Amino acid sequence: MDTIITRFPPSPTGYLHIGGARTALFNWLYARKKKGKFVLRIEDTDAARSTEESVDAILESLEWLGIDWDEGPYFQTQRYDIYNEYIEKLIKSGAAYYCSCTPEEIDAMREEAKANGQKPMYNGKCRNRNLEKADNTVVRLKTPDSGVTIVQDVVKGATSFQNSEIDDFIIRRSDGSAMYNLAVVIDDLTMGINTIIRGDDHLINTPKQMLIYQALGAEMPVFGHVPMVLGADKSRLSKRHGAMSVGEYKKMGFLPDAMINYLVRLGWSHGDQEFFTRDDLIEKFNLEHLGRSASMFDTDKLTALNAKHIQSKSPAELADHLLFHLKELGIDAQNNAFTQGVIETLQPRSKTLVEMAQGAVFYYLDEVQFDEKAAKKFLKPDVLDMLQKSAGYIKGLEAYTQEALENVFKQIMEETDLKFGKIAQPLRVAITGTTVSPGIFEMLLALGKEKTVQRIEAAIRLIQDNS
Ligand code: GLU
Repeated sequence: MDTIITRFPPSPTGYLHIGGARTALFNWLYARKKKGKFVLRIEDTDAARSTEESVDAILESLEWLGIDWDEGPYFQTQRYDIYNEYIEKLIKSGAAYYCSCTPEEIDAMREEAKANGQKPMYNGKCRNRNLEKADNTVVRLKTPDSGVTIVQDVVKGATSFQNSEIDDFIIRRSDGSAMYNLAVVIDDLTMGINTIIRGDDHLINTPKQMLIYQALGAEMPVFGHVPMVLGADKSRLSKRHGAMSVGEYKKMGFLPDAMINYLVRLGWSHGDQEFFTRDDLIEKFNLEHLGRSASMFDTDKLTALNAKHIQSKSPAELADHLLFHLKELGIDAQNNAFTQGVIETLQPRSKTLVEMAQGAVFYYLDEVQFDEKAAKKFLKPDVLDMLQKSAGYIKGLEAYTQEALENVFKQIMEETDLKFGKIAQPLRVAITGTTVSPGIFEMLLALGKEKTVQRIEAAIRLIQDNS
């Protein structure tokens, strides 16, 4: 079999949305699985709606998802000469022709067809007129009047389109610019694309594109049209269902691996398996198990999967992702042993990286920010003695280990007759400013001896100042 070459051709008219990311992912996974190539092409011919910012946003989101491309990005606006070369070929071979019909004439044809109970379409008036190129001429493809064009779809099976319902459609406007379907086919052909997975909103274009392949005598690619992603109310996923762009999901604290795991499952399955690593997906992905029915996007499921991915990674792998979210909270941290220790304490309890970052803030602050209620309740003169003992004993520790800290607690419990909670909770407030945190020992260990002592001493001063 030839090398598999797939593509992702976004129109840069906005951010990379969930549906587009899923399409990109399917094509990328298939290329990676088959050790083929994945091509990125920017379909920017709609000058009014295409922007450079969108191109940047799309590339950034793909990079964040870890979807890398082997070729491109190509830009359709830089390829008009290539399209024209092929249009000339089609004209020369008689497969396409110039048409000078005016909009009024076309309207009249459509009305007439409608009056005859037919689909409104161009009637082929200029087909045999052998017109030459002129300022007002478009180029049309000569399409068959009868027979069927069958899309052999790897997802949907065969779908037939009556050729009689496809008119001689325009492939080049009178201003010389190529029409969408022509550009797509010439791109796919010249880029060697042999497998096209895309949303089924494009199925309507496929027979026209197939007729262009046929007219050029070119080999047809494999097509697969996947159902659209739906929102919870089963209508097509849109803004009113919540966040749509990949960038927003990054900001909401999802890991790229969780994202691709979730996206791939919106339209592909491997038995009952829900959790996939990236390598797992590359190994197992296939076209056979792309589903025919639409899936619903469910943020709760994505969140649950995200928690699993967070738990499955090493602190070192998570650190760079966390740094982004810490920065959003105004904290400049490094991917170092300290941050990795912090992550270890938060990993089992964080569903998102935003949660993790919020839970991590206290580790990095120079001064603890006290929750007023917590400080009032737990940092009172009656804990002064206990806090002083804790600071003193911890300061004196040679080895700052879990065992040593446990012994400090035991000793204080014996000396003060306080129960474990009566020591742990004020200490927790002293260290974090709040009453919720990771387990006391793991937290103290991650914070380090010096900072621990400093914070207990600061709490002591606070109590003294207030009394
Ligand atoms: N540019 C089209 C889009 O963004 C994709 C076209 C195709 O996959 O053939 O929807």
